Amino acid sequence: MDTQGPFRYSSLKEKRQGPSSYHEFEATELYCPKCGKAVPVIKSLLLVLPEGDKYEYRCRFCGTSVGDKIDRHGQYYSILRM
Ligand SMILES: [Zn+2]
Repeated sequence: MDTQGPFRYSSLKEKRQGPSSYHEFEATELYCPKCGKAVPVIKSLLLVLPEGDKYEYRCRFCGTSVGDKIDRHGQYYSILRM
């Protein structure tokens, strides 16, 4: 029963570090065809869809759309319910 406390804390920490390190993998630079190079991008919410939020990445210099992605938060809900 002494080991239960510390083990719980360490597993909680690992779970919290997981998602935050994921954010570092998110695109901060994408190739912009207008600028002809990889540019820092601005992430903006484009649409809210039933399966998730659709984000658009825009070039910070010329505003050209250089990519988009859907954040599926449906999975979060199912995790929370468990
Ligand atoms: Zn550009």
